[in-house]
Amino acid sequence: MALIVQKYGGTSVGTIEKIKNVAKKALTAQSAGNQVVVVVSAMGPTTDVLIARLKELTADYDPREYDALVSIGENESAALLAQAIIAQGGRAVSLTGWQAGVETEDNHNKCKITNVRAGRLRQELQAGKIVVVTGFQGLNSRGDVTTIGRGGSDTSAVVIAAALRADICEIYTDVDGIYTTDPHILPEARRLERISHEEMLEMASLGAGVMHPRAVECAKVNNMTIAVKHSQQDGKGTLITMVGEKLNTVSGVAAADDVAKIGLLHVPDVPGMAAELFGALAAARINVDVIVQSIHEEAKKNDISFTVGHDDYAQALKITEAKAGAWGCAVIGDKAVAKVSLVGIGMASAPGVAARMFAALGREKINIQMISTSEIKISCIIAQKELKKALRAVHTEFGLEKC
Ligand code: ASP
Ligand code: MG
Repeated sequence: MALIVQKYGGTSVGTIEKIKNVAKKALTAQSAGNQVVVVVSAMGPTTDVLIARLKELTADYDPREYDALVSIGENESAALLAQAIIAQGGRAVSLTGWQAGVETEDNHNKCKITNVRAGRLRQELQAGKIVVVTGFQGLNSRGDVTTIGRGGSDTSAVVIAAALRADICEIYTDVDGIYTTDPHILPEARRLERISHEEMLEMASLGAGVMHPRAVECAKVNNMTIAVKHSQQDGKGTLITMVGEKLNTVSGVAAADDVAKIGLLHVPDVPGMAAELFGALAAARINVDVIVQSIHEEAKKNDISFTVGHDDYAQALKITEAKAGAWGCAVIGDKAVAKVSLVGIGMASAPGVAARMFAALGREKINIQMISTSEIKISCIIAQKELKKALRAVHTEFGLEKC
């Protein structure tokens, strides 16, 4: 008997019909002889609606009340799903984050899960029930309900799977797996049978959009295999696993268009400047992505540029401008940029991959504004309007449309 954790996202539980379908899938998995935990997101746009309501009331909301409010979408979907399973003749119980023992940091709105006390979960599973758990929420040490950041239900599922030592964590969504690139942008994108956690992490944080990066990180740390599957169709989906013997040089090209670039020009070339700037951004909980520093040897000045998500752009710009004011340097900002990233666990041992990517972009006359690399990834910041052309050029260069 295996223990399976299934997670269904907002679109997969968006209507009563869909919830009935999810109930059927959970029951099928249980009748095949498995113990089943189901983690759910809120129905369709529920979370957005709740947040909009709060913002209609005030722009200056209390983070605790934000969590108290926006976490309730998951309570609705979990109770409805448990009820749907019972109506189909099964045995089920819904548990909120705190009933399921999900403990988080004390801060609100974007907090991390620190522990899962899985006693109740185990007890309900042993009683033969399908346990439906609310994603996205937990309880802090003050006994207050917390939420773990938008899109957090994936992470809830993986963390619960790890705590229960589940055999697999299945993420059901509105796509049938992980693709070599975003199939909405390039129709020739191909579904991958398998991808490593490392590559998926790069794909996810680079905008592949299917899974929350934090969830993949948790899966990697806990050696948890994830299956990404379509919630309304049968199919093999994509397995996200530990690195195997068969490495792809290149697995995919990720696109991210909610990228903004900020540049700080002519920063005095003395120790501590970067630390001060990025320290201030970190203190504001702003995620900085690509960072490039270039040197003007003679003038003893540096240019520092970096990228952030669109959500953080206004605040990041304000913080950077404040530093620039104090240091007497200029700031430039551009929201109309995008990032194209080539990802592959095998590229570390295959020379010439970067050169081929740059050449493919050059042939299309696409200007590269910033470059950043890791062992398994090469990212280029380009103008947003050239994103599709760039994706296709790189995808074709590496033959990703072919099996
Ligand atoms: N309902 C939450 C959100 O919309 C969590 C999730 O869907 O994963 O962000
Ligand atoms: Mg979601």
